[in-house]
Amino acid sequence: MPAKATTYENVTLQFNQAADLMGLDPAVRKILGKTENEITVNFPVKMDDGRIEMFTGYRVQHNNVLGPYKGGLRFHPAVDIDEVRALATWMTWKSAILNIPFGGGKGGIQMDPSKYSLQEIERITRRFTFALGSNIGPEYDIPAPDVNTNSQIMAWILDTYLQMMPPLERNRNLHVVTGKPIESGGSLGRDKATGQGVVWVIEQWAKDQNFDLKGATYFVQGFGNVGSWTARLMKPTGARMIAVEDVSGSYANPDGIDPDDVMAWVREHRGLIAGYPQVKPIDHLAFLGTKADIFIPAAMENQITAETAPLLNVKLVAEGANGPTDREGHAILGQRGIHVLPDVLCNSGGVAVSYFEWLQNKRSEFWDLDEVDGKLYKKMVAGYQAVRDTAKKYNTDWRTAAYIVALSRLERVYKERGIFP
Ligand code: NAD
Repeated sequence: MPAKATTYENVTLQFNQAADLMGLDPAVRKILGKTENEITVNFPVKMDDGRIEMFTGYRVQHNNVLGPYKGGLRFHPAVDIDEVRALATWMTWKSAILNIPFGGGKGGIQMDPSKYSLQEIERITRRFTFALGSNIGPEYDIPAPDVNTNSQIMAWILDTYLQMMPPLERNRNLHVVTGKPIESGGSLGRDKATGQGVVWVIEQWAKDQNFDLKGATYFVQGFGNVGSWTARLMKPTGARMIAVEDVSGSYANPDGIDPDDVMAWVREHRGLIAGYPQVKPIDHLAFLGTKADIFIPAAMENQITAETAPLLNVKLVAEGANGPTDREGHAILGQRGIHVLPDVLCNSGGVAVSYFEWLQNKRSEFWDLDEVDGKLYKKMVAGYQAVRDTAKKYNTDWRTAAYIVALSRLERVYKERGIFP
């Protein structure tokens, strides 16, 4: 049996498919088919017991023709150069789809954060920031939260970065990271932005399909930033969550699970759903086979594959996670008539509000939530419409269409500017 494609190989296959269909300029294809910079840093950190441990961190910068590299930092044992390359490339497409003046970057540390104390995680974060040095910067490459990183980690990165600046430069550099705590220069609405975007895209889809979300059912994989906010913001649509999964296991209740109640439990129980009383534990494959209207994967890559795609029993997959569906899984969903709202559109609300946070920092402004939400809504609807109309124009699936929207914008810029020298 041929080896399974890696995550980055999947991105390349998706990219080639879209490039072939739209007839992407061959020079632009060569450029976008590679990442621009790949930084690997190995750095020592002192543990609580005085031992020294070595860590490996990455930052991949895919493309910055539209603006500074932009993208999250992930702390996870599966982080490696292949995964980070894929995630950085998706960021370029996402910003281009939403017409945001950012490029694509991503990074992370290969580690299991559950094995370290909070003090150790702080020292790991600060030492990683120091090791990255001037490879990040507010007008050059701007990290943000991703899996197992949050606003606290962003505050430590900010603080470390500012300590490396001359005093007179410090307050001009708050926008070196986004997803910060509000008091440290964060934006209202950034926390929920990705989930909010997912829900607004689902609502657009439902409107176009004449599908009533009231009384519909959904289930969610992952109950961290993206999964929990999506689950909670779906509630006002009148839809009902009937299963949910995180690293601790899979859980179901056909009568409905209140996402706000799960959130209250998770907050008190080290971020995990395990032990939540209103649900029944089920196995992972039964979870994927849940009969519902909508599945929202919001955890890790490569969950919907040749093996698992045949199990899904839904009308729509709305991708909150990056890369939850591999190429074979996507083809099977297509054959089975299951609609897919692709990651690069569906979860792009996070980068949109990161852009708004960056703008507020640059201008020393602080916007109210209505202003942030109003601007995000416009971006999500415009992105959705561009992808929908492109899918129709090229008679193709929405993932390929989303890539074509992104690639067309990038191609225009390269054609305007030419290639130096
Ligand atoms: P997070 O760390 O806040 O939450 C991750 C959740 O997934 C946790 O509930 C964890 O228990 C669960 N999980 C991890 N591995 C799992 C597995 N194998 N099976 C089931 N559940 C599992 O991370 P997040 O920020 O919510 O990111 C989730 C996904 O969304 C990632 O793909 C990330 O790249 C993507 N994303 C995040 C943002 C953002 O703003 N945070 C923006 C766009 C895309």
